[in-house]
Amino acid sequence: MISFVSKNKLILGIIAGVLLGGAVGSFFPEFGASTQIIGELFLNALKMVVLPLIIVSIMLSIMKVGNLGSLGLKTIAYYAATTAIAVSIGIAVVTILQPGEASEIINGNMPDVVKSKEGFKVTDILYQMSTPNLFKSAYEFQILPIVIASLLFGIAFGKIKKEKQLILDLFEGIDRAIMTVVHWIITLTPIGIFGLIAGKIGEAGGGDEVLRLAMQLGKYVFCVLLGLFIHGFIILPLLLRVLSGRNPVTYFKDLSETLLTAFSTASSSASLPLTITNVTENAKVSPKVSKFVLPLGATINMDGTALYESVAVIFIAQSYGIQLGGGELVVIFLTATLAAIGAAGIPEAGLVTMVLVLQAVGLPIEGIGIILAIDWFLDRFRTTVNVWGDSIGAAVIEKLEPDERSG
Ligand code: ASP
Repeated sequence: MISFVSKNKLILGIIAGVLLGGAVGSFFPEFGASTQIIGELFLNALKMVVLPLIIVSIMLSIMKVGNLGSLGLKTIAYYAATTAIAVSIGIAVVTILQPGEASEIINGNMPDVVKSKEGFKVTDILYQMSTPNLFKSAYEFQILPIVIASLLFGIAFGKIKKEKQLILDLFEGIDRAIMTVVHWIITLTPIGIFGLIAGKIGEAGGGDEVLRLAMQLGKYVFCVLLGLFIHGFIILPLLLRVLSGRNPVTYFKDLSETLLTAFSTASSSASLPLTITNVTENAKVSPKVSKFVLPLGATINMDGTALYESVAVIFIAQSYGIQLGGGELVVIFLTATLAAIGAAGIPEAGLVTMVLVLQAVGLPIEGIGIILAIDWFLDRFRTTVNVWGDSIGAAVIEKLEPDERSG
């Protein structure tokens, strides 16, 4: 694959980008904010390749995979199980530590996108999966219907007898071309990440301001980070070790570029080009499996978001002085899992689908105002866990589908 810089140089560059971006944004917020354009250009470049990558990857792997039913079912079952574990950790942490007990209610301004979701129902998540117009979905960067359409067309192409090889060769060629463009974009990651981090911290008013915000909701921030830490550093690595036999430390190193990109972009979808590259090229997971499992994961598997939503909703209830019973915790467990599946892989999408969870247990959606100011910050951590969870899924499913390991 065409690549301008070696793997080691790239990761050092990315780490330098994160540190320098953090320092510039913290100490020179105005200048930091002015570098945001660099980050946005980089983000646009990544997003530009996401849709073609998803469409071609999914169709190609479906055409190559022998037993799609088994692969699909195992992927969905595995992702649903890890999301459920994540929600349970969130519920346990926030119930034990009670971060909301002493906090007073400070309602911030509700963003329009959250207000417009008033009345959001479980059936709306189903609705989001369908589209009358694929181009409109693509234009609006709604990936779930695109994933579903790619699945359907992939299955259909696989059934064509006469031209199947021709189509396969064509898609292989397009896939290689897309991956070449992906590598070109990846070369820009260090500078793009610098712009994203310096820009965001600068826009937030500098390091002191971010620290002040984090301290203001300190116990809540601690609960979210603790939950994410338990899931990301204990549960998921354990699953990787036990179910795939891989070394979690090595896997983490192989994935470091995409994890830092997830942290900087706060978007699992935008990180997908790097996730696929790292998982297939660094960790050497079979592309046949990972090019099916990863786009699906980036769209429906969000362990970090699910955990976050359960902590946030229970924290809001505690802040209002509302005691939740066992039945309500079960409702939160179910709706937070669904809300995470329904959340798009874009920044702060989890905040919007949280409306569903709040309404399911009768909490006011204005409660979101309490946690709004710090959401962009926590979003980075939960997105990193989302992408880490997707990537571990690829290694696990590869092991569970021994026939699909090659190619
Ligand atoms: N930003 C997250 C993601 O892209 C979604 C969320 O807001 O939780 O994975």
